[in-house]
Amino acid sequence: MKYKITIKKDICIGCGVCEINSPDLFKVSEKESISEPLAEVEDANLEKGMMVARMCPVGAIELFDSEGKKVA
Ligand code: SF4
Repeated sequence: MKYKITIKKDICIGCGVCEINSPDLFKVSEKESISEPLAEVEDANLEKGMMVARMCPVGAIELFDSEGKKVA
């Protein structure tokens, strides 16, 4: 299964914690100072994706499974 990452752009502060910890999944736009997801999360990386979501200081990162159920 793959999991979709979404960023709550209205609350992301562009701190870069997500990109530093998982540059394969997140990139902070230099222009907008907002994180953007780069890929979907594979099963093998789900723990990592959930860990980074928990590390976001403002709770801007969410993960959804293929049925749209929020997992983080
Ligand atoms: S860790 Fe959260 S607030 Fe910081 S850039 Fe990533 S999504 Fe935005």
